[in-house]
Amino acid sequence: MYLLKICRCCDSIIGELETDNSKTQGIDSSLEVVGNVAYTLCPLCMQELDINPRVYYQ
Ligand SMILES: [Zn+2]
Repeated sequence: MYLLKICRCCDSIIGELETDNSKTQGIDSSLEVVGNVAYTLCPLCMQELDINPRVYYQ
């Protein structure tokens, strides 16, 4: 199963992630899998959220 990794903050495509169906949860604590898309944070946004860890775009 291929997941497309997209930054949840700036919507940039970070890359693809290959995983099996049983492991779509808990790959990464910052990862949120919706369908074939894994929402995560690019390094830039990760850095910003490090400063304000509770700020998320919905
Ligand atoms: Zn970003």
